[in-house]
Amino acid sequence: MGDASRCLIGGELNKITSMILFIPERKQCEYCHEKFNKLDDIIEHLKNVHHQSVPKCHNCGKEFLHEKDRLHHVREENERKADARRHKK
Ligand SMILES: [Zn+2]
Ligand SMILES: [Zn+2]
Repeated sequence: MGDASRCLIGGELNKITSMILFIPERKQCEYCHEKFNKLDDIIEHLKNVHHQSVPKCHNCGKEFLHEKDRLHHVREENERKADARRHKK
């Protein structure tokens, strides 16, 4: 026991972590650790099961798992809008 078993657990964790890295789209609920293949599914799960509010784009209503994802989307949307304005003239 002691050091040896801790080492084994560390090795297992490394294996699991590298498996997750190969499937970047796979999302896991941070509350109940249920896994989801689609972003839409985990967002629905967070809202329905954990009554968690998710960041939402005010322009198009698209929902995101993290605030930084929403900010990235809003920035892209704004760039597209600025682009469209430029092309009009
Ligand atoms: Zn959950
Ligand atoms: Zn949007």
